[in-house]
Amino acid sequence: MEEVGTGLLDRLDAMQRVAASAPGGPLLIVAGPGTGKTRTLTHRLAYLCAEMNVYPEDCLAITFTRRAAEELRHRLGGLLGPVAEDVTVATFHSLALSVLREQEPDLVVTDEPGGEGVALDELIPRLVALLKAQPSLADKLRSRWPWVFVDEYQDVDADQYALLRLLVPSDGNLCAIGDPDQAIYSFRGADVSFFLQFSRDFVDARVVRLTRNYRSSAPILAAATQAIAPSSLVPGRRLDPAKVDLEAPLIGVYPASSPADEAAFIARKVDELVGGVSHRTRADVRGVTGTTVSFSDIAVLYRTDAQAAAIVDALSRAGVPVQKRSHDRLRSRAGVNTLLAELRLANGLTGSVAARLKLTAKVLIERPALGGGSPEPDEVWAAVDLLTPLALRCGQDLQRFLGEVATGAEVDALDPRAEAVTLLTLHAAKGLEFPVVFLAGCEDGLLPLRLPGSAPTEAEVAEERRLFFVGLTRAQRRLYLSHAARRVRYGSERDCRPTPFLAPVDAGLLEQLGDQAPRRPRDQQLRLI
Ligand code: ATP
Ligand code: MG
Repeated sequence: MEEVGTGLLDRLDAMQRVAASAPGGPLLIVAGPGTGKTRTLTHRLAYLCAEMNVYPEDCLAITFTRRAAEELRHRLGGLLGPVAEDVTVATFHSLALSVLREQEPDLVVTDEPGGEGVALDELIPRLVALLKAQPSLADKLRSRWPWVFVDEYQDVDADQYALLRLLVPSDGNLCAIGDPDQAIYSFRGADVSFFLQFSRDFVDARVVRLTRNYRSSAPILAAATQAIAPSSLVPGRRLDPAKVDLEAPLIGVYPASSPADEAAFIARKVDELVGGVSHRTRADVRGVTGTTVSFSDIAVLYRTDAQAAAIVDALSRAGVPVQKRSHDRLRSRAGVNTLLAELRLANGLTGSVAARLKLTAKVLIERPALGGGSPEPDEVWAAVDLLTPLALRCGQDLQRFLGEVATGAEVDALDPRAEAVTLLTLHAAKGLEFPVVFLAGCEDGLLPLRLPGSAPTEAEVAEERRLFFVGLTRAQRRLYLSHAARRVRYGSERDCRPTPFLAPVDAGLLEQLGDQAPRRPRDQQLRLI
C-alpha cells in the first residue's frame, strides 16, 4: 500500500494536483489521452478520504464497464488500504440493479430476449422512473452518497445522465472526468453534449484541464493532435509530451498491395522488433527487456473484426503468439449457462456464492463422469474461474450475483501479462496503451467506415476521426499505419484510397516504408494524400 496522508499528491504533476485537491462542488476534468485520468480520479478520492475527512462510505465512483470498475477498486485499495472497500464502486448498471433490488427484493433480471423479468437495458430507466415518482428515495440516495465521481463522462447516454441528475444536486460534489475527443460510442446512444454542457448543468462548476501526456512520444502526439484538429471538441486541444526522447522514431506508413501483403508486413516487422522470432524460443524473447521489444508490448488495431483473420494467419505462420480480445457475453461461454442453471436449481444450498459455484461445478463434473451429457470438466472449471471474481464480490447474495451476470457482464479475455501480440478493434483498445502499435486498414471506407450505398454523415465522420485519434494515442513509442490498395468489402474486391484522416498530418512526421514508397529525403516528402 502506498503511504496515506503526506505525499499522496506528490505522485501527481501540478495540474493533476490542482484537480485532485480541488474543493467540493461540481468539478469537470477535461483530460486528453495519456494524461493520467484514472490516476487523478483515484488520487482525488483518496485525498478527500485520507486528508479532508470525507468518509469512504459517502463516496460513489461510477464507471461504464466492469473491467474499469475492477481497475478503480484495485487502485483505490492501493492508495487507501482496506477502507477503500467502503467506497461504492459501480457501473451504471450495477448501481441501478442494487438500488432497485433494495426496493424490490424479488426483482428478476434477464438478458434473454423475451425472458421473464426486467431486461439488460431497462434497469436504468426503471430506476429513473422510480426516483421521479418517489422524491424521498432520491433524497435518501443523495444523502447516502454526497460525493460522486464519474469516469469517461463523454460516454454518458440520456438514461445515465437522467439518473446522475437525480443523484447529484446541481451544486453537488460531482467530479466528472473525460475527453470529448474520445467520444466513440454514439452508436450505443452516448451523447457527448452532456459533457459539453456540464458547466450549464452544474452551478459554478470548476473546470481543470490536463494536457501533459505521459504515454506517447512527441511525433505520435504531434500527429494525433493534427489528425483530430478538424473535429476536435476541445478548444485549443494540446498534448504536451512529458517524455523527452530525441531518438523517438517517426510514424511508419506502409502502403500494402493487399490485406495479405499488409499482414505479411506486420508479421515481418514484429519479427524484426523482437529480434527474430524464428530464431528464438518464446522464453528467450520474454527474457529480453529494455532494449528489445517483447510480444506483449505489441498491439495490432483495426476498425472491423473482419480484418483480423489475415493478420492472425500471417502472425501465426511466422510463429508469433497472438491473443485476440473478445467482448463475448459471459453467458455465451461454454459451460457458463449450464453452471448457472444448476446453481439456480440448487436453491437450498447455503453459504457464499463462490463456494456454491464450486460445489455446483463438482456436481456437474460427477455427472459427465456418469455420462450424463453435461459439459466437459475443463469447460466447467473455466466457467467457475470466469464467474468467481464476481461471485466473491456478491458474498452470500445469490440473487445479486445472478442479476449482475444478467446485466451484460462481459468476458474480458485479454490477459495483459500474456506473452503474445494483442489484436483488438479500435473500440476495444480504448484506455489501453502499448509500446508498439500497428493500425491496419487506414483506408477510406474503413476509416471512416462506409456502408454500401450510403455516405457517412458529417457527425459520423467526426466520430470515426475520433476513433482514429483513439488508435494513434494508444502507442507509446512506435506507431505503424498501413493501408491496402485493394480489399474485399461487401462481397467484392475494391480499389482503396488511404484514409483522409492522415491529410492534416505533417508529412515530416511520417516515414514511408516498403518498396513502393517514394525514397525522398524526409523534408522533401509530399503530403501523403
Ligand atoms: P486514456 O484517455 O487513453 O484512457 P488516461 O488519461 O486515462 O488515458 P492513464 O492511462 O491514466 O491516462 O495514464 C497514461 C500513462 O501515464 C500511464 O502509464 C500512467 O501511469 C502514466 N502517468 C499518468 N500520470 C503520471 C504522472 N504524474 N507521473 C508519471 N506517470 C504518469
Ligand atoms: Mg484511461
